[in-house]
Amino acid sequence: PVADPNQILFSSLAISDELLQAVTDMGFVSPSPIQAEAIPPILAGRDVIGQAQTGTGKTAAFGIPALELIDVQDRSVQTLVLCPTRELALQVADEIKKLAKYKRGIRIEAIYGGDSIERQIRSLKSGVHIVIGTPGRVMDHMERNTLKLNKVKMMILDEADEMLDMGFREDIESILDEMPEERQTILFSATMSKPIMQITQKFQKDPVLVKVVKRELTNTNIEQVYFEVKPKAKVEVMCRLIDMYDLKLLLVFCNTKRKVDEIVEDLQVRGYQAEGLHGDLRQAQRNNVMSKFRSGTTSILVATDVAARGIDVDDVDAVINFDIPLDEEYYVHRIGRTGRAGKSGRAFSLVGRDEKFRFREIQGYTKVKVEKGVIPSFEDIVG
Ligand code: ADP
Ligand code: MG
Repeated sequence: PVADPNQILFSSLAISDELLQAVTDMGFVSPSPIQAEAIPPILAGRDVIGQAQTGTGKTAAFGIPALELIDVQDRSVQTLVLCPTRELALQVADEIKKLAKYKRGIRIEAIYGGDSIERQIRSLKSGVHIVIGTPGRVMDHMERNTLKLNKVKMMILDEADEMLDMGFREDIESILDEMPEERQTILFSATMSKPIMQITQKFQKDPVLVKVVKRELTNTNIEQVYFEVKPKAKVEVMCRLIDMYDLKLLLVFCNTKRKVDEIVEDLQVRGYQAEGLHGDLRQAQRNNVMSKFRSGTTSILVATDVAARGIDVDDVDAVINFDIPLDEEYYVHRIGRTGRAGKSGRAFSLVGRDEKFRFREIQGYTKVKVEKGVIPSFEDIVG
């Protein structure tokens, strides 16, 4: 086959052989639009504001240039990445570690609450080049003087809008204040709000704005369907949908932790492999649930919005909104968990009578009209 002349390849972005080999191993052929546009200015030392939807490859967009600019001989923290949640910090650290596969001697550490602080202190002491952390735990280490930021050359705010939404503004500002003036500040966000622009004006120098947004807030490769369901029948309808569409890996969203536990039990009783993810679980349990879902041991992950923020699991077949989210932006975040990296996905919403109005409002917000689906009958499933 002849290569598409319009398609840029990773090899055309001036990146090292070590990184080219790593992205090839990861199965990446051509850079995503945000990667193609953000990597060159970051490599050139510019401050960058990157705006792109979830699932467009923002991690590698900053991960690749960050790795290129590390001086492995100097064993001090040179890059700090801030993420809104523990899960995201881990996920970003994992992706950067994969990208760093052929970079010898490089050390990367995730620093987040709930994990042993002693272990983190030992690791930091032995020399780490790239730290990926949540604002709270990073502040904690700064106060203990176990994380020194005086050699930081690059600061990355990942999912900046979410971090601000979650109330991390003060922490972020204190962290930025501790860093050398001579540094690169990179900010990634799915949306550009006024608070984001304020952070930008205060902490970035002459930033390059890299914007890759489509008209629709939601990906067009996600098939969105809703079902009108009586609240009591939701579990039954969900199970029929799972069977009918032969869904192997799916995310189910509920609005409360209690509901998550209830649904997990209902699903387990019916013989499905389901696990719950919410803020009441200890960190070790959360990591365990996530790794079982990633490996496919657990096929259904039932979660609250906060617990599932930014989670990236490949090949999620479908997202089911068991409850309609209270916030329209959550709808976008939720269904953005499927149909990633150009793949197709399904988003099913179970709409109870008292949720109809909210669901209409969501469609007004996303500007996408969601099709009404027909609930599979018993005959549909038994075939
Ligand atoms: P975002 O941060 O924008 O939500 P991620 O960085 O989490 O997106 O990437 C989403 C998924 O796409 C990940 O599984 C990642 O490994 C994959 N990915 C990233 N860049 C590419 C690429 N150039 N080609 C193919 N897959 C990619
Ligand atoms: Mg991301």
